[in-house]
Amino acid sequence: MTARILDGNAIRNQIYAELEPQIAELGRAGIRPGLAAVLVGHNPASEVYVKSKIAACEKLGLRSWLFTPAESVSTAEMLQLIADLNRRDDVDGILVQLPLPRQVDARRVLEAVDPSKDVDGFHPINLGRLVRGGAGLVACTPLGVMEILRRSGIATEGVPAVVLGRSDIVGKPMALLLMHANATVTICHSKTRDLQQIARRSDLIIAAMGRTAMVTPEWIRTGATVIDVGINRITDPAEASQIFAKFPQRLEQFKQKGSALVGDVHPDAAEIAGAITPVPGGVGPLTIAMLMSNTIKAARLRRAQAAGATAASPASGR
Ligand code: NDP
Repeated sequence: MTARILDGNAIRNQIYAELEPQIAELGRAGIRPGLAAVLVGHNPASEVYVKSKIAACEKLGLRSWLFTPAESVSTAEMLQLIADLNRRDDVDGILVQLPLPRQVDARRVLEAVDPSKDVDGFHPINLGRLVRGGAGLVACTPLGVMEILRRSGIATEGVPAVVLGRSDIVGKPMALLLMHANATVTICHSKTRDLQQIARRSDLIIAAMGRTAMVTPEWIRTGATVIDVGINRITDPAEASQIFAKFPQRLEQFKQKGSALVGDVHPDAAEIAGAITPVPGGVGPLTIAMLMSNTIKAARLRRAQAAGATAASPASGR
């Protein structure tokens, strides 16, 4: 059996095609949604991610701003920047690229973002709304996984699902979204016993541990859906030879480049799974697509809130 490959780039393009008329409609109302990205220091991976996010804004015609505080920035300076962005009416979404340098209190900074501009869905208010199952801004990567499942016709209702990883930005919101979609969810982490057995009992596996190619074919029930969130860069030729043993083309690419991106799922898993996301080209493109979607949603929600507040205020004549 060879798994159906769930093409994240194709799904991303579908989503962009649906966002375009929404952006045009907002444009007719004089609104051009805007995203402010904050990138601290010079982490190469973060620079690549932020560049892709800004490029996506430009492609869709959204406004974007890039703020680049120095590596030595203090928590107070970051809080000041966030307060300025919170106040700006032209900024609909605020994205603080993680990780932040050690001297910055990341939690305080993320909690300072106005929840209505929190397009990453990291603010406790938005997390709380997600727990309750209400409307709000939800973390982009788990939201993207749900889009892959929905648009690929993969059922979740009543399905035994496992989420490998319990981070605030991927594992936890992922588990909550699946639970709200009526899956029966098991959440695993570094202290879980019998990880492999739990995975093998599941019809849906979401791997988000940051552990290179850890999920091997033995972990997978025949025909299960496997969503690989992990993004790991490998540079060791011996590791590459082992992982790409059945993929000579990828091994050749590795040799030319000296590195390769590998997920948490071993590429051989495609021999057992019913459907699988590749790395790269699976979940990654969806994360950015959902950031665009959240920015547009934030632009709409904030104006709806403002209109509601005006209508309810005594100054409106009511
Ligand atoms: P974190 O490091 O914050 O969390 C990793 C989670 O995996 C933790 O809950 C940890 O458990 C668990 N874990 C780690 N090792 C094991 C193990 N051996 N067995 C079982 N559980 C384990 O990572 P993130 O959630 O931020 O990211 C996860 C992966 O997803 C990374 O590879 C990251 O690069 C990728 N990612 C991809 C995105 C995309 O757009 N495709 C976006 C965001 C992330 P514990 O809590 O016990 O420590």
